Amino acid sequence: MESNMMSEDNGLHFKVCACGCETSFMGRSNRKFLNTRHKSKVNNQIRSNRRKVLVPTFEKMELCYRLLQKIKEEGKLKVWIPISDLTRKGFDPNIPTTRLKDKKTGTEYMVLLNFAYRVSDEGTQIIILELNN
Ligand SMILES: [Zn+2]
Repeated sequence: MESNMMSEDNGLHFKVCACGCETSFMGRSNRKFLNTRHKSKVNNQIRSNRRKVLVPTFEKMELCYRLLQKIKEEGKLKVWIPISDLTRKGFDPNIPTTRLKDKKTGTEYMVLLNFAYRVSDEGTQIIILELNN
C-alpha cells in the first residue's frame, strides 16, 4: 500500500531540472524546474542573451549622444560644423534614430533623444539642434 504513494498514479514523475543543474525531483509532468529560483535563473539568462546582441548598438548610441552633448557644451548648436569633428571621435550619423520633418521647409532631421541633426548633401557638414520638450 505505502509503495503506491510513490507510484505514477498520483501524477508525479521523476524529473530532471531543465536549468541544467541536473537535480532530479518528483513533479507533475508539466513541471520543468526544481523551483522558481531555478526557473528564473534560466529566464534571466535568456533575457541577458537577448540583450547582448543589442549592447554594441546601445554603446554606439551612448557615444553619439555624448558627442552631441559636447557640441552643445561647446556652444556649437545651430551652426554648420565639419562632420569630421564628430566622426573622428566615433560619431555615426546613421545610428538608429527617429526622423523629424520640418513642416515649413520640408527638411528632414535625424533625432537622438533631445537632439536633432542633419548632414549636408555632400556629407561633410552637420548641423545640430536641441529640441524643446
Ligand atoms: Zn535547476
